[in-house]
Amino acid sequence: QGTLTVGELADKLNKDSSEIIKKLLFLGVMATKNQDLDDDAIELICSEYDVKVEKEIILEDTDFNKYIAEEKEENLIERPAVVTIMGHVDHGKTTLLDAIRESKVTAGEAGGITQHIGAYQIEVDDKKITFLDTPGHEAFTSMRSRGAQVTDLSILVVAADDGVMPQTVEALNHAKAAGVPIIVAVNKMDKDTANPDRVMQELTEYELIPEDWGGDTIFVQLSALQNKGIDELLEMILLIAEMQELKANPKAQAFGTVIEAELDKGRGPVATLLVQNGTLHISDSIVVGNTNGRVRAMLNDIGKRVKTAGPSTPVEITGLNEVPQAGDQFLVFEDEKKARQIGEARHQQAVLATRSEHTKVSLDDLFEHI
Ligand code: GDP
Ligand code: MG
Repeated sequence: QGTLTVGELADKLNKDSSEIIKKLLFLGVMATKNQDLDDDAIELICSEYDVKVEKEIILEDTDFNKYIAEEKEENLIERPAVVTIMGHVDHGKTTLLDAIRESKVTAGEAGGITQHIGAYQIEVDDKKITFLDTPGHEAFTSMRSRGAQVTDLSILVVAADDGVMPQTVEALNHAKAAGVPIIVAVNKMDKDTANPDRVMQELTEYELIPEDWGGDTIFVQLSALQNKGIDELLEMILLIAEMQELKANPKAQAFGTVIEAELDKGRGPVATLLVQNGTLHISDSIVVGNTNGRVRAMLNDIGKRVKTAGPSTPVEITGLNEVPQAGDQFLVFEDEKKARQIGEARHQQAVLATRSEHTKVSLDDLFEHI
């Protein structure tokens, strides 16, 4: 699709249209003044005049926001909270994630349950909770840099024998900046050197003040290693989630965020998606970041094939043309052709963006009105 006519390009370059038409003819392109030029032709002409192009083509159609409708209250139902675990290295994030998962393995899945994707779902008191495996700060930085917000609630793990450390502060700042509520998990309470009061004291500096001290932050003392305090933590998660009134429309066109993605030798591009609204189905036409495709197969968090994935559900999909990036957003389109067009347009935009990054030359006003 053209972005500029011959005449418009001539104006931008302060040249006569006829001159541009001649140049084009010389390059083997027959064109008239009102003809749309494609990006390659524009670049060719510009290079003839030693003008480097830094383009940002804003194609309204490629903006997902245009397609994501405001949901009517009557279509909304409760959805599970999406939780990330953050904290300083070695304070017990991985151990806690493992302890939570193992504590809630359902009877049918008992024994040999292995997590296949970077997120999992558990059930407590008939309510589900989704945990993301991405280290909290990464989830925040990579995803937020793309404008995605996936986390509803953040668990800040602080080792009781070590106290508040640099990454603890970094993590809590990320959560605060994103407006995500924090539950403090004071871990390693089994250790002789555990000093939970010190942790609470240190965190008051960052306005995380326990209820007992007149604040409103929930602190849970636990030992991830010994599986102590896990149930209490889960209860607190449900409590906060309930207050947040998290909702989604399961009937909408699925929308969400890429948690992780890679190229699999046998299966091609594989992406773990978190569905945030709507329901994702097998053979849905989907645009994911700057690529697109059709959902070929879907696996849930324990590696089972599923046909659908509703709000707050993580699934691994195949069927994309290329590997997207963590933090990319996805959207399903009813019309396969539209999905392909938008995917291709977004791809083209991305390619142009990297190209102009490489040339590092800009011409301030050339295409600013496109
Ligand atoms: P991460 O870097 O935050 O993911 O921390 P890990 O989960 O890998 O834990 C770091 C170390 O602390 C490991 O050796 C764990 O076994 C240990 N650890 C984690 N939780 C506890 C706990 O509750 N008590 C004790 N004593 N050790 C723990
Ligand atoms: Mg870890």
